[in-house]
Amino acid sequence: MTVTSEQDEQEILILEAIDRFLDRDVKPYVMELEHNDTYPEEIVEKMKELGLFGSVIAEEYGGLGLSCLTYAKIVERVAIVWMSLSGIFNSHLIMASAVQRAGTEEQKQKWLPKFASGEIRGGLALTEPNCGTDLQAIRTRAIKQGDGYVVNGTKTWISNGIHGTCFAVMVKTEPDAAPRHKGISLFLIEKGEGFQVSRKLEKLGYKGIDSAELIFDECYVPQENLIGGVEGQGFKHVMGGLELGRINVAARGVGVAQAALDEAVKYSQQRQTFGKPICEHQAIQINMADMATRTEAARLLTHQAANAFDKGERCDMEAGMAKLFATEAAVTNSMDSMRVHGGYGYSKEFPVERFYRDAPLLTIGEGTNELQRIIIARQLIQRNPI
Ligand SMILES: Cc1cc2nc3c(=O)[nH]c(=O)nc-3n(C[C@H](O)[C@H](O)[C@H](O)COP(=O)(O)OP(=O)(O)OC[C@H]3O[C@@H](n4cnc5c(N)ncnc54)[C@H](O)[C@@H]3O)c2cc1C
Repeated sequence: MTVTSEQDEQEILILEAIDRFLDRDVKPYVMELEHNDTYPEEIVEKMKELGLFGSVIAEEYGGLGLSCLTYAKIVERVAIVWMSLSGIFNSHLIMASAVQRAGTEEQKQKWLPKFASGEIRGGLALTEPNCGTDLQAIRTRAIKQGDGYVVNGTKTWISNGIHGTCFAVMVKTEPDAAPRHKGISLFLIEKGEGFQVSRKLEKLGYKGIDSAELIFDECYVPQENLIGGVEGQGFKHVMGGLELGRINVAARGVGVAQAALDEAVKYSQQRQTFGKPICEHQAIQINMADMATRTEAARLLTHQAANAFDKGERCDMEAGMAKLFATEAAVTNSMDSMRVHGGYGYSKEFPVERFYRDAPLLTIGEGTNELQRIIIARQLIQRNPI
C-alpha cells in the first residue's frame, strides 16, 4: 500500500496494532468466552491500553481523534474476530460523542478524558420496555428539584449495562410538550443511589457483552449533568449521533459478512465430496462469489458514508444505506456460510453458528432496517423535489 499522507501512515500503524491485539489477545479466547457468555475483563484492559475507548474522542481531551473512516476499519476488524467486543467500545463512544458534540466546555473537560482512558465506561440508554423505534414515547421522567433533577423510570436492552458505570440517559423533562421532542433531555447519570441494574437480559447471540435493564428510582442528578446545559435538546443531541452509530453498525455488518465468507472459503477447500474439494462444485462457487461481492459492496457503502461524515457532509441517507445493506449482508452471508459447512455449520465447534446468531441483532440496533428504509425513502424525495 502506498502511503499518501501522514494520516494514512497513522491509520496503517493503528490498524497493525489492532491486528496484533486481535491475533494475540482475542482470537485464542473467543470460543470459550462466547460459549460461557463471559465478560472479557482482561481484553477490556488491553483495549484501554490501545486507546480504543477514546478512538473518536478529540486529542485535546485525551482521545486518539481518529477519523470516522479509520474507526470503521477498526470496527470491521474487531467484528471479524468477535462482534461482541465492538459493542463494548462502540456504545461507550456514542455516549462520549454526545458529550463531545453537544456538551458544555466544562462537561467536556470533566468527562471526556475519563471516557477516553476507559476509566469511566458506559453507553447510551434510550430504549424503554414500551418503546424503541418511537423514542419520543419514552416515559422516564426527570423533575426539577433544588439544584438538580430527580429521575424515575426504566431503561431496557442497555449495552454495557452491568459493567458500565455511566450512561447518557434520555428522559422527559416536559412530558406534555408539543412537538414531543421538545420535552426530551439527555443526562449523564452515574450508578449509585437510585440507579441500579434490575436484571441481566439473556440473548440469542451477542454473548460476552452485558445487556441489562436499568431502574431509576428517585435518582438525584445534579444540574451540571444535563448535557449541553439546556432542557429540551436531548432528542436533537441523540439524533446528531445517529450517523456515527449507524456507520459503526454497518462496519460490524461488514466484519460479520467477511468472517462468514472467510470461513466458507477455508472450509470449502478442506471438505471433499465425490472425490474433490467442495470449492470445485459450481453450486458452492456461485454461493461464495455472491458472498464475496455482497461483502465488498457493503464495505464500499460503509466507507463512502464514513468519508462523507469526515467531510462534514450530510450523510443520513448514506449511513442508512450502509447500515441497511451491510447488516443484511451479514445475515445472508452467515446463512450461506452455514450451508457451505453442511452439518458442521450447525456445530458449536465452528464459528459459523455464532455469526448466524449475531447477525440479526445488527438489523435491529441503531434503528431497525425498516426504519433505515423509511429514512432513505424520505431523503430520496427531499433531495429530488419536482
Ligand atoms: C442486544 C441488544 C442491544 C441493545 N442495546 C441498546 C443500547 O445500548 N441502548 C439502547 O437504548 N437500546 C438498545 N437496544 C434496543 C434497540 O435499539 C431496540 O430494540 C430497537 O431500537 C427497536 O426497538 P424495539 O425493540 O422497541 O422495537 P419496536 O420499536 O417495537 O419495533 C417493532 C417492529 O416494528 C417496526 N416498526 C416500528 N415502527 C415502524 C414504522 N414507523 N414503520 C415501519 N416499521 C416500524 C420495527 O422496525 C420492528 O420491526 C438494544 C437491543 C438489543 C436486542
